[in-house]
Amino acid sequence: MKKHSKIVRIEDYEPYIGGESVERIIRKAKILKNYHVIHVNSTYYGGGVAELLSPLTLLMNTVGIKAGWRVIQGAPDFFSITKKMHNGLQGGEINLSDRKKAIYEQTVLENSIRNHFDHDLVVVHDPQPLPLINYYQKKCPWVWRCHIDLSHPHPELWRYLASFVEKYDAAILSIEEYRQNLSIPQLFFLPAIDPFSIKNRKMDETAIEERLQYYNIPTDLPLVVQISRFDRWKDPEGVIKAFKIARKEVDCTLVLLGNVATDDPEGTTVYESLLDQREERIIILSREDSSLVNALQSKAAVVLQKSIREGFGLTVTEAMWKGTPVIGGNVGGIRYQIEDGVNGFLVNSVKETADRIVRLLKDPKLRDEMGHAAREKVRRNFLLSRLLEEYLDLFNSFETKYIYKG
Ligand code: UDP
Repeated sequence: MKKHSKIVRIEDYEPYIGGESVERIIRKAKILKNYHVIHVNSTYYGGGVAELLSPLTLLMNTVGIKAGWRVIQGAPDFFSITKKMHNGLQGGEINLSDRKKAIYEQTVLENSIRNHFDHDLVVVHDPQPLPLINYYQKKCPWVWRCHIDLSHPHPELWRYLASFVEKYDAAILSIEEYRQNLSIPQLFFLPAIDPFSIKNRKMDETAIEERLQYYNIPTDLPLVVQISRFDRWKDPEGVIKAFKIARKEVDCTLVLLGNVATDDPEGTTVYESLLDQREERIIILSREDSSLVNALQSKAAVVLQKSIREGFGLTVTEAMWKGTPVIGGNVGGIRYQIEDGVNGFLVNSVKETADRIVRLLKDPKLRDEMGHAAREKVRRNFLLSRLLEEYLDLFNSFETKYIYKG
């Protein structure tokens, strides 16, 4: 009988990172055998954090770390407030009223009652569960991992959230540019992808065609694709505008695939606001289907990630891994993935986006060269094995140096 279930092990990464790297990671993990760590965030699916925690916690377990994953719960008004905070951290306006603070802190307090932590380390992801630290007798290091673009946080909001962050032992941000004025150590971990997942593993041509046909996506013209949560920071409007300019010069089809995370109540409104722009060659879809994501990223002539702010952008890495050139907004973490003109393009406007779409669609050789460089960039820098090793180094550093703060 064909076996359908398998858990990826670090040894499986050998073809991509080499035997020496695998051995080194195993050695680092051995010292930490049975180290007990818990990750806490606010959604099981939708968005990059869930996408990352799912394979990362499994991989940690296969190297001997007892890694768990908890998701905090909240009513819609809680998530409406935390989404406003998310927007504020990315530079948007927020009216930070006492009412909002009270709902935020009360919901997190309730979650603290339900969650018992008896671990060697607690990793809290993003602002939603951030105040948890207020409600525990701290017995181990606590680390705050922020995945958001912190280049221009709303000052009043940041002051408020920093009062919680300061109680942690360290903060992990995605890139150096997000560094804040904090008294605790700040580390920088770039996110990574699981190359073995349904979304990222090699799909053969027949399977790709089958998925695209299933959703009535035509492949007679080159595909221009953006896959993102429906979120204004991802600039779906700008994508449609750029596509409309580009198609005056080259015939092509646009596919905007998106989803809505459970902790993002604005998604449905953004999705609905786009629907009247649908046409035969502008396909806007909301489906949860990892194989469709894979098929689109693999088949696309060009993938866009025209974000206005972007903590990192897993979608960029995912497409690059499939050898597809990506045109990304010249912001945040995208700049660490795309080398402009080498493995994709960085753009600052709708016009530039349209121009780069046309260039790539007209030049298959350029697409090939950039696609090749893109995959290599991911192989070297953005596979989960690298992120696992960074966490192991962090755990080891706490094991040898940690002095309880309180
Ligand atoms: N994603 C998906 N289906 C969609 C839209 C997004 O599976 O319709 C996935 C996408 O493939 C990626 C994640 O959601 O793995 C989004 O992560 P990213 O870091 O790009 O953005 P975030 O949503 O965290 O801001």
